[in-house]
Amino acid sequence: MSDPLCTRVLLGLVGILSGLIPVTLTAGQRPNIVFLFSDDHATAAVSAYGEQRQLLQTPNIDRIAKEGMRFDRCLVPNSICGPSRACILTGKYNHINGFYNNSNCVFDGSQVTFPKLLQSAGYQTAIIGKWHLGSDPTGFDEWHILPGQGLYYNPPMIHNGKKVKHEGYTTDLITDFSIEWLKQRDPNKPFLLMCQHKAPHREWSPALRHLGHNNGQEYREPPNLFDDYTQRGLAVRDQDMTLEKTFSELDAKLKSPPNLNAEQQQKWDAYYGPRNEEFHKRNPAGSDLVRWRYQSYMHDYLGCIKAVDEGVGRVLDYLDQAGLAENTIVVYSSDQGFFLGEHGWFDKRWIFEESMRTPFVVRWPGVTQPGQACPEIVSNIDFAQTFLEAAGVSAPPEMQGASLVPILKGQIPADWRKSFYYHYYEYPVPHRVRPHEGVVTDRYKLVRIYKPEEPYWELYDRQTDPLEMKSVYHDPSYAETITTLKTELARLRSELQVPAETPRNAFGKAPFDGEQR
Ligand code: CA
Repeated sequence: MSDPLCTRVLLGLVGILSGLIPVTLTAGQRPNIVFLFSDDHATAAVSAYGEQRQLLQTPNIDRIAKEGMRFDRCLVPNSICGPSRACILTGKYNHINGFYNNSNCVFDGSQVTFPKLLQSAGYQTAIIGKWHLGSDPTGFDEWHILPGQGLYYNPPMIHNGKKVKHEGYTTDLITDFSIEWLKQRDPNKPFLLMCQHKAPHREWSPALRHLGHNNGQEYREPPNLFDDYTQRGLAVRDQDMTLEKTFSELDAKLKSPPNLNAEQQQKWDAYYGPRNEEFHKRNPAGSDLVRWRYQSYMHDYLGCIKAVDEGVGRVLDYLDQAGLAENTIVVYSSDQGFFLGEHGWFDKRWIFEESMRTPFVVRWPGVTQPGQACPEIVSNIDFAQTFLEAAGVSAPPEMQGASLVPILKGQIPADWRKSFYYHYYEYPVPHRVRPHEGVVTDRYKLVRIYKPEEPYWELYDRQTDPLEMKSVYHDPSYAETITTLKTELARLRSELQVPAETPRNAFGKAPFDGEQR
C-alpha cells in the first residue's frame, strides 16, 4: 500500500465513506499538528500571561503566543492528570469517556479519539512522553511513553509495547525523541505529534543544569499564602494539600528523588546539600517554615519549567530548519493549572481559578494573526474538534466541545458558550479534596460539594473576590443570581448527559471510593 496511487485511492475511499476528506488534499495542504503539553503548568508560570508575580521567563512558549493566539481562559472539566487527558483525546466529559480519576480508572482505548480519526484520515500519529491512562495508547503509529507518572531521571519507558530504559533528564529525552520522530517520519504524509512532558509535576525535580537557576531570587508571595479558610465550607478547610501540613521531605528536597546515578547525585548534592544545611541551621517554624517551603518550591517547580520551555524552543527551531513551520499548527498547553502557594496550597483538583485554568497558546501561520488574545471561555474539551476541523475531518456529533477554528481565524461565533460545567470526583486520596461540581461563567462560580457529607453549595463572585476567598451563597443579594445559575447548571447537566448518580467502574468502585488502582 506504499504505492502513491493506492494511498490516494484509499484516502478517496475514506473520504467517500465518511464524506469528510476531499481526494485532492495532500500533505502540503493539510496542516501538521504539534501538540506540546506539560503536566500541572500554572498560567502564572508562563510569562506570556503577564502575571503580576513575574515568576520566570518562558521565551519559547511566549513565542507561540506572540506568533499566534493566547487563550486567556482555557478551563478544564476535571482538574487532574488522567481525566484531563481523557477529555482531550475523546472531546467528551469524564462521565462519558469513563475516566473519572487517577486512582481506580483505566482508559477504554476502544473508544473514538481524535488521534484515531486523524490516523484513519491519513495522518501519521505519535505520542511521546507522559500518557498516564492505565491502558496502552491506541490510534498512534508510534508511542513512546512513561509508565504511570514516570520518573524525572533515567526513566524507564515503553516504546511501542516494549520496555526500554534511558539515561538522562526526562524532559530533555521526551524532546529528543519527539525531534527524532519528526526526522524519520514519512515526509509525504501530514502528522500529529503529541509531545507530553511529565514536568513540572510533583515532586518538581529540575534538570541538574537548572539547579540554582534563580540565583537566589526571592519570589513574591501570593496575597493569600496564609489563607485561614474562613467564609467557606468544610471542603476548603479539610483538604490535605497545604505547604504547611502536606509538603513532604521529598517535596522540600530534604530527601533526594529516586533513580539518580552517582554523577547526577553528586551534582544534586552540590546544590541541595548547602540549601538543606542552611535549612537545618535556621530550623524555621510556623509561618517562617511556610515561607521557606514556598521559596524552595518555586525554585524547584520553575526550574522544571525552564527545561520544558527549552524543549519547546528546540521543537520550534526544528520546525523552522525543516521548513515545516508554515504548515504546522503548534499548540502549548497543560493538563490543568496548579496552585503556586495560593490559599497556602500546592496541587490542583479544585474548581478555583489557579487549578481549573490552564495555559493554552496556538500558532497557526496563515490562519491565526500574530499577537492575538482570546478572553472567551474555551476548554480542552474543544481540542479534539479543533484539530479535526483543521485537518478537514468531521467530528463525531457525540463530541461535547466546539471547534476553536473560527476563533483562531479571528471570529468569535455569536453563540459561543457563556458558561462551563466542571466536575471533580477523586476522593479521599490523595489530598482529601471533596467531590464537587459546578457552573462557571465569566463572573461567577456556583459549586455543589456533595460527598461524603450532606451536599452543600458555595458561590464565588470573581468580580468582587478575584482570589475566591469567600462564598457569598448565603448573601441574600445574590438570590436571583443563584436561581439563574442553578437553572444554567441543570441545563448543562442535561445537555452533557450527566447521570444523576455517578456510575461504578468495572471493579464496582465509584470514583470517590478512594481505592488505588
Ligand atoms: Ca496534571
